[in-house]
Amino acid sequence: MKKNDLFQVEIEDMSAEGLGVGHVDGMTFFIKDALVGDVVEALVMKLKKHYGYGRLRRVLQPSVYRVEPRCPLERLCGGCQLQALSYPKQLELKQQLVRENLQRIGGFSRSLLEAVTEPIVGMEDPYRYRNKAQYPVGRDREGNLVMGFYAARSHRIVPVEDCLLGVTENAAVLRVVKEYMETREVMPYDETSGQGLIRHVLIRKGFHTGELMVCLVINGECLPDEERLCEMLAEIPGMKSISLNVNRERTNVILGEKMRLLWGEPTIGDVLYPRKEAPEEADAEQRAKAVKWQKAGKGVSFRISPKSFYQVNPVQTEKLYSLVLEYADLTGEEIIWDLYCGIGTISLFLAGSARRVYGVEVVPEAVEDARENAVLNGIENAVFFQGRAEEVFSAYAKGQLPEAGEAEPVDVVVVDPPRKGCDPLCLETILAMSPKRVVYVSCDPATLARDLRILCEGGYELRRVRPVDQFCQGMHVETVVLMSQVKN
Ligand code: SAH
Repeated sequence: MKKNDLFQVEIEDMSAEGLGVGHVDGMTFFIKDALVGDVVEALVMKLKKHYGYGRLRRVLQPSVYRVEPRCPLERLCGGCQLQALSYPKQLELKQQLVRENLQRIGGFSRSLLEAVTEPIVGMEDPYRYRNKAQYPVGRDREGNLVMGFYAARSHRIVPVEDCLLGVTENAAVLRVVKEYMETREVMPYDETSGQGLIRHVLIRKGFHTGELMVCLVINGECLPDEERLCEMLAEIPGMKSISLNVNRERTNVILGEKMRLLWGEPTIGDVLYPRKEAPEEADAEQRAKAVKWQKAGKGVSFRISPKSFYQVNPVQTEKLYSLVLEYADLTGEEIIWDLYCGIGTISLFLAGSARRVYGVEVVPEAVEDARENAVLNGIENAVFFQGRAEEVFSAYAKGQLPEAGEAEPVDVVVVDPPRKGCDPLCLETILAMSPKRVVYVSCDPATLARDLRILCEGGYELRRVRPVDQFCQGMHVETVVLMSQVKN
């Protein structure tokens, strides 16, 4: 086979990036927009020794899992990879992806995994779930003003004014910004020349509060007739905060340092409530109990600024954190370390059921947010440290963290690291501190599997594994794992 050859292939699987995977003549091919179960005709784009990339030409025989994508721009926009696949099949794929990684990289047996893995937590309605959107502003080839998303692996803006993953208010905000730019002749930013004013429109919504925030990222200090813009935006129901962010650098980083509030409050609020999902097969009584549990649960409030890190799918985040709470199995007496804690969401969620929670996070602004959120909720037993998780936790283990007092035995460690997983020193320190339970929240099954293997070799056993679908229509999967100390 050579470049530009046409070939036929049956798609057997999906890659972790959401590409269709099939085999021809001992070669593995990755094909964008081909779905598991399809038979397709594709063009060879790139060939390596054992694998290659193909471009989809035609679907010869569509997969039984294909559905009509709800969004007409699904193939152009780089946002969703799985929209044309039925939602139950998406969930099945993600569950399988986690299991395969734990088996292959983690070295766990299939029978153990079958015994400890619980069904993936899906979403009732897997659309309109994102509480945050960042729309680049620019011009298309004809010179028209466009706002939307970048096409996959490119900086070309696909005009998506009402993304179905986002809230309906986004479209209203974009309409206003567009009208304002056209009537005031405000130029969009041009990445190639570095000229023009408006770069991005950032929108956030608090799902429980209904509060809306708009932040315009601009290549300058101010906008013409800011007052009129605010008047127009303020008419959108829920609007609470309108601000400018100054970014004059030639960079892909969206936000610059400087913020200026134009209207309303500098932050919006949101609340996360503990939830207990009634199992699918639950009878009416069990369901009623679950609802009661959920209502009794005290929510944790958060203040969110345009710069804050906050989970993007609040509905699933409540389920995710509630699982962490369940797995941590708290009595009120525990000492907990929450490593990679971000703005302290998990720490604060657990604090009400524990003696003390220590959170560690490397980004200073996030630590400030965590401390403010603790005060906002009247939580006094959560202490936050800024620094690397591995360094702060190992200092504590050696009694070299005076702010935390004497190193006390740790009952539960929660980790929620970025995709690259935990630092080796972090895992080493966990093993040295020997907490009864470790709850691992992961956004990458491969590094999760690697780290679980290390913990298991150090005296822990895998007790419960549950994927949570935080990124419906996309390929990412989040997993919560409970490990406990093997009793000798
Ligand atoms: N638990 C939080 C955030 C998880 S995201 C939540 O659920 O919202 C992972 C976090 O780890 C990010 O906030 C990132 O800034 C932080 N991080 C990355 N490397 C780190 C390190 N070595 N030590 C501490 N925090 C780190």
